[in-house]
Amino acid sequence: MTATTKSGMIKRGDLILAEEPFVYTVSGNQVDSRCSNCLKSLQQDDNNTKSRCAACKYSRYCSSKCQKIDWKRSHKAECPGFKLLEERGFRPPDHFFLMLKILLKSEEAFEQTSICEPYHNSPRRTYEDLIFHEDEMRLSKDVMDYVPQLRLILAKYMGIDDPRDLPSEQVIFEMFGKVKCNSYGILDDDLITCGVGLYLNASVFDHSCRPNACQIFDGARIFIRATEDIADFSEVRISYIDRFAPLKQRQDHIFEGYFFTCTCSSCSNPSKDAEMFALRCANPKCDHGIPCDQRAYLPCSACQTSLAPEVADATLLTVANFSKTLDEIAKKTGDLVEMRAAAATVERSLHPMNPLLASLYSTLGRVMPPTDENAEEFFGKAADIYRHWLPSPAVDPLMGWTCLEAAYESRSGDPAPSRRYLVEAQQILHITHGPDHPLCRKLPRF
Ligand SMILES: [Zn+2]
Ligand SMILES: [Zn+2]
Ligand SMILES: [Zn+2]
Ligand SMILES: [Zn+2]
Repeated sequence: MTATTKSGMIKRGDLILAEEPFVYTVSGNQVDSRCSNCLKSLQQDDNNTKSRCAACKYSRYCSSKCQKIDWKRSHKAECPGFKLLEERGFRPPDHFFLMLKILLKSEEAFEQTSICEPYHNSPRRTYEDLIFHEDEMRLSKDVMDYVPQLRLILAKYMGIDDPRDLPSEQVIFEMFGKVKCNSYGILDDDLITCGVGLYLNASVFDHSCRPNACQIFDGARIFIRATEDIADFSEVRISYIDRFAPLKQRQDHIFEGYFFTCTCSSCSNPSKDAEMFALRCANPKCDHGIPCDQRAYLPCSACQTSLAPEVADATLLTVANFSKTLDEIAKKTGDLVEMRAAAATVERSLHPMNPLLASLYSTLGRVMPPTDENAEEFFGKAADIYRHWLPSPAVDPLMGWTCLEAAYESRSGDPAPSRRYLVEAQQILHITHGPDHPLCRKLPRF
């Protein structure tokens, strides 16, 4: 993923690229609840046998129109393999589906680029142009052990019996590398991952945990838009991961997912990261944060109170498991009081501007019914935290979505905060999504 073409200034809000995927798939854990073509959530009443492909019983569709499009594009070839998967109850990882779809493509497809716009006069890329971190991958025993197995499983689902008809191990290794290092998680309007796609041209952009552009989607179509003014096309950076995760977590995700080590300005400044993910000072009268620096807890720089490392470790463990705990309570009893009590433990230990709290508030906001009297404040609190850390003006898809949720949640109460958050959401989403995106077109006008 290296951009090299020079072509002048890109302004905040400019569309850098829009493109259809080379291949994409609905996420395996959502195949029963989403249309395999447009990735939209299926309504409850679509949730019957009518919406399934009658042959494989694996893929589901929101309409016969979507089913026809998918059949023509790829499903006709993949349907027998999907049927085998469904019969054996085998739910392979998403990269398996992408590879299966690539292997079933016609030879001409590998010479073609995808239709995209406007892309600043850069040369269009084909499958051959996709690059990956080959040396790093060859050093991974797990990868090298996995590829031969993957090759045999793929052949089985393609209905290939004679080993000589299989693509070579080298071809499968390269395909796995290209898919792993270049795929994008496809997000829906609520920023929930609903699929994975490989984009020939959009894969040119490098990663930074402090990006100046963002990727958003309409179905499986990707849009790369500038969130800041960018001096040159070669300097466009997007974030492949959650930019609001702590440094160690970001680095692990990047290495496990893409086989490289991020050296962006955020990752090169661990003390800034430690400041962001601060714990609350043990002195209740002090509102200063205790920087949380790779398990080394320094005394509070304002009041010099020390925090016991075991207390800090226990806090971080609670935080790490919080989403799971909340999910479990929601499933088991759905008890709102219990959920809020679990959240309060975390709130008491983290500094109020810690981004981990923002994700906690978003999780709470998603599970709490809007009728809950406290629900409205959760998204507002999350927005305050993101705004605090983002470069001003705070333009980021997550920030825009959070403001939008805050606006809707607070409608039941005082109309003033609703309007404030809605205006902020509108300003952000017009840049991150563009005025023509369905999410922006749905926004109410004052
Ligand atoms: Zn559909
Ligand atoms: Zn089928
Ligand atoms: Zn980074
Ligand atoms: Zn202090």
